[in-house]
Amino acid sequence: SIPTLAIVGRPNVGKSTLFNRMAGERISIVEDVPGVTRDRIYAHSEWLGREFSIIDTGGIEMSDEPFMDQIKHQAQIAIEEADVIILVTSGREGVTDADEYVAKILYKSDKPVILAVNKVDNPEMRSDVYEFYSLGLGEPIPVSGSHGIGLGDVLDEAIKHF
Ligand code: GDP
Ligand code: MG
Repeated sequence: SIPTLAIVGRPNVGKSTLFNRMAGERISIVEDVPGVTRDRIYAHSEWLGREFSIIDTGGIEMSDEPFMDQIKHQAQIAIEEADVIILVTSGREGVTDADEYVAKILYKSDKPVILAVNKVDNPEMRSDVYEFYSLGLGEPIPVSGSHGIGLGDVLDEAIKHF
C-alpha cells in the first residue's frame, strides 16, 4: 500500500486549505466516507514522483465530543493510520494550549511528525515560527496554505520517511 500522510491540528489553523493545496490538481482518487463526513478527507497525490495518500483528520466529525476529546481522537486516528503526521499550527495565533495538548500525544507515538506553522503569509512573519520549538517536535516549517508557500518544504521532509 502507498504511504499515508495525516494532517492534524486544532480547528481553524488551515488544515483543509493545506489538504486541498497538497491534493491540488493531482488528485487521482478521492473517496468520500459515507456516514463519517461530507467533507473530502482522503486524497491521493504525489511529490517528486512519490505517490502517497493524505487524510485531513479535521474533516472527521465527532460532534458530540468535547473539543479536546475531538482533537485527541483525530490525533489517535492519525497515529493509527499514517506513516507521517503533519501537525498544523498557526503563526498568527502562536502556540496555544490545544497545540501543546496535541503535540504531547503525537510526541509519545513513534510516528514521524512534521511541524508546519501556517498563515506565515510573508517573509516578515517568518520569525513567528521560533516559539513553536517549544512543542518539542523539532524544526517548525513556515507555510502559507492560502498563498501556497512552504508546501514543498513540508513534502520534502515527509517523503524522507516513506
Ligand atoms: P481548518 O479548520 O484547520 O481545516 O482550517 P481551514 O483550512 O478551514 O482554514 C481556516 C481559516 O483560515 C479560513 O478562513 C482560511 O481561509 C484561513 N487560512 C487558511 N490558510 C491560511 C493562510 O495560509 N494564511 C491566512 N492568512 N489564512 C489562512
Ligand atoms: Mg477543515
